[in-house]
Amino acid sequence: MLRFECKDAGFECKAVFQSKSEEELNKQIGQHAVDVHGLEPSDLTPELLRKVKALTQRS
Ligand SMILES: [Zn+2]
Repeated sequence: MLRFECKDAGFECKAVFQSKSEEELNKQIGQHAVDVHGLEPSDLTPELLRKVKALTQRS
């Protein structure tokens, strides 16, 4: 299971995302970043996704 906590990305945010698939996890995080943190969809760059991946916990 993959798990990502928004606070690990430096936001004061309690959102936690879990998914079995990285693609699904990225989708959830991307949607959240746009809806809650005011990012533009164009801000979701491969570089950002790499950072997310580095912060993702695997269990
Ligand atoms: Zn958040």
